[in-house]
Amino acid sequence: MLDRIETVEPKTRSLLYVRDRSELLDEASAIDAARSSGDRVGLLAGVPVVIKDNIATKGIPTTAGSRMLARFVPPYDATAVERLKTAGALIVGKANMDEFAMGSSNENSAFVAARNPWDLTRVPGGSSGGSAAAVAAGEAVLSLGSDTGGSVRQPAGFCGVVGVKPTYGRVSRYGLIAFASSLDQIGTVSRDVEGAAVLLGAVAGEDPRDSTTAAEPVPDYVSELDHGCSGLTVGVPDEYFSEGLSPDVESAVRRAIDVLAEAGARVKAISIPNAAHGIAAYYVVANAEASSNLARYDGIEYGHRACGSRDLFDTYCATRSNGFGREVKRRIMLGTYALSAGYRDEWYLKAQKVRSLIADDLSRAFEEVDAIVAPTSPTRAFGVGELADDPLEMYLADVYTTHANLAGIAAISVPCDPGDGGLPVGFQIMVDKFQEVTMFRIARAHERAAGFPRGVPDL
Ligand code: GLN
Repeated sequence: MLDRIETVEPKTRSLLYVRDRSELLDEASAIDAARSSGDRVGLLAGVPVVIKDNIATKGIPTTAGSRMLARFVPPYDATAVERLKTAGALIVGKANMDEFAMGSSNENSAFVAARNPWDLTRVPGGSSGGSAAAVAAGEAVLSLGSDTGGSVRQPAGFCGVVGVKPTYGRVSRYGLIAFASSLDQIGTVSRDVEGAAVLLGAVAGEDPRDSTTAAEPVPDYVSELDHGCSGLTVGVPDEYFSEGLSPDVESAVRRAIDVLAEAGARVKAISIPNAAHGIAAYYVVANAEASSNLARYDGIEYGHRACGSRDLFDTYCATRSNGFGREVKRRIMLGTYALSAGYRDEWYLKAQKVRSLIADDLSRAFEEVDAIVAPTSPTRAFGVGELADDPLEMYLADVYTTHANLAGIAAISVPCDPGDGGLPVGFQIMVDKFQEVTMFRIARAHERAAGFPRGVPDL
């Protein structure tokens, strides 16, 4: 895998950091030795994993794709990373991402934009674009990403791999650099559904260091994988197949629904009446929380500090002016506005109310169906530079993914047949809170019947 990284990395730019080769080979040999002498090794022993660069890794740079943290080396591991190490995984490196996880194309990385391994002129999606590109290109077996409004699922869809956003509270956020705390969740990227089930099982569970983690026991996600989808009901909301959905994505997703029906699932038309307001509510809530979370980058305690400033206020201004990129500044300004005196009720509170309406729509739907299916994104991967100057168009890439975050439910994106052998298309399966077992069963049934995973791109 290290050889593969060396060959393809100049093209994909999916990694911001790769650990020292001999150190990694030593760790791998130690695992081989333990295994051959009959010692118990972890479930992920020797499996090369890359970690999104907003998840803290002890002694390994963690930049969040930002100049602000360009030289930050955490003195601790995120809980998810600690659990991966306990399971024996080899942490190979850190994955490229949009700055502070804000973006849908990876073009907001302060360092370099990752590319889509299936077509290097296109984006891999974002913000976990590096995680998805690395797994798709064969640079890692598994990867951790983070999903605030679609950042694991959308790049997984664009790169033809499997991406999971677990239920809010399923995976500890301790050590995840905060973007929007009520929406953020660490998620998994893998080539197939089994990889997702194994990886989620390894990192999930209650953590005293994150009070929002759930006490709910972590089921064995792998043991029920092959129970099929016969007898389960999947809901197809009208609102998810509306204006703006590209016809080729729609036909691929409709074929995926047919695949589930042939595998024994019941298909039912449903409605999410407030679906259209998801993007607006998400971008108000996410930016409001971001403006608060990012206040800590002031040049005093850690991270980038502008030099040569005259006084404290000047230090703040200069540090934040040259430490943050354009999109991050845009979000901080929008979020600060939405929270400011006189506007708070009109924007932030209203968005929270809309958030509840969407969550209510979804829970009503889950009284009738076991899962809701949808496209992951309205289009396939777009070209590098195509939307870079049009933030509103870029935000619309998240039209089908933000609902799961707003409601705190779980969702997976699996590749579905692009038809003409072209660029991948993501098929999204959403389930109610803590119903990941059902989500995996349906995803696996589709994967089996549709013949995934397929090969890696020729790079
Ligand atoms: N693309 C969305 C945004 O820019 C989602 C980001 C995410 O999930 N981290 O906010």
